[in-house]
Amino acid sequence: MEVSIEKGALYVTATPIGNLGDLSPRGRAVLAGVDRIAAEDTRRSRALLAHFDVHTPLVALHEHNEFRRSPQLIEQLRAGGTLALICDAGTPSISDPGGRLVALAHEQGVRVIPIPGPSAVICALSACGLSTERFAFEGFLPARAAARRARIESLRGEGRTLIFYEAPHRLAATLRDLAQILGAGRPATLARELTKVFETIRRDALGSLAEWVAADADQRKGEAVIVVGGAADDREAAADAARRVLTLLLEELPLKRAVALAAAITGEGRNRLYELALELRGPLR
Ligand code: SAM
Repeated sequence: MEVSIEKGALYVTATPIGNLGDLSPRGRAVLAGVDRIAAEDTRRSRALLAHFDVHTPLVALHEHNEFRRSPQLIEQLRAGGTLALICDAGTPSISDPGGRLVALAHEQGVRVIPIPGPSAVICALSACGLSTERFAFEGFLPARAAARRARIESLRGEGRTLIFYEAPHRLAATLRDLAQILGAGRPATLARELTKVFETIRRDALGSLAEWVAADADQRKGEAVIVVGGAADDREAAADAARRVLTLLLEELPLKRAVALAAAITGEGRNRLYELALELRGPLR
């Protein structure tokens, strides 16, 4: 594919998150056509680019040098150079370096051109089977347990679908904390090794996902995204569970007793359950 590269532009270019077939033809043409590519880990990117027969010179841009190096790169762009920004995998500046360079480009009047492609957050969201109408990307939770739990607490009432990135060695602990704090019954999806050979996408209640991952070491390998239904889903799930419990109890017990037991089992309010019981029982014959 032919692409005319614009002088003085910064191309923010997505690369595959696993399957190499996911680099777009436009992405490849840009990477082959720019003067230089700023990459998080130049060794890793050199291997990736060689696979696509791209041999553009690389310059390192990572979290430790981004503040220092960005002004120099912007200067080269202002002098008419062309630059692509990539990260190790996926879309640059999404839980990855690049945000400082892009912000500076805007401040200095340098044109920023995104070349869209894979990002684990959107990939997981598209296949999660939960509401995608409104969502909040939370990136990585804090690594320390106390801070992580406090952050999850702060999200307890969030009605939007929540998306988290997580490292393999913290996956089990994070799922356990999410289940404990947001509720074991909250619907969630674990999306692991997306676009790779061992891709696994499982939708279940948070508590069941936490148990599954704790019990099976294979589920803690590789990269993972956790998608959690919002607090509204939680309430809907709780209401569904209460309705099921009440239906069963009403088959065996008088109405008042069924309501009292359903309230004790599910934690739902007695008045609401009483109304529901009247609805379920239907008009008296
Ligand atoms: N910039 C990247 C993007 O656009 O997705 C994200 C980089 S972030 C440093 C790495 C995290 O992204 C991983 O810990 C994991 O949570 C998620 N991730 C990346 N690739 C993934 C994949 N193939 N399957 C599942 N999660 C992935």
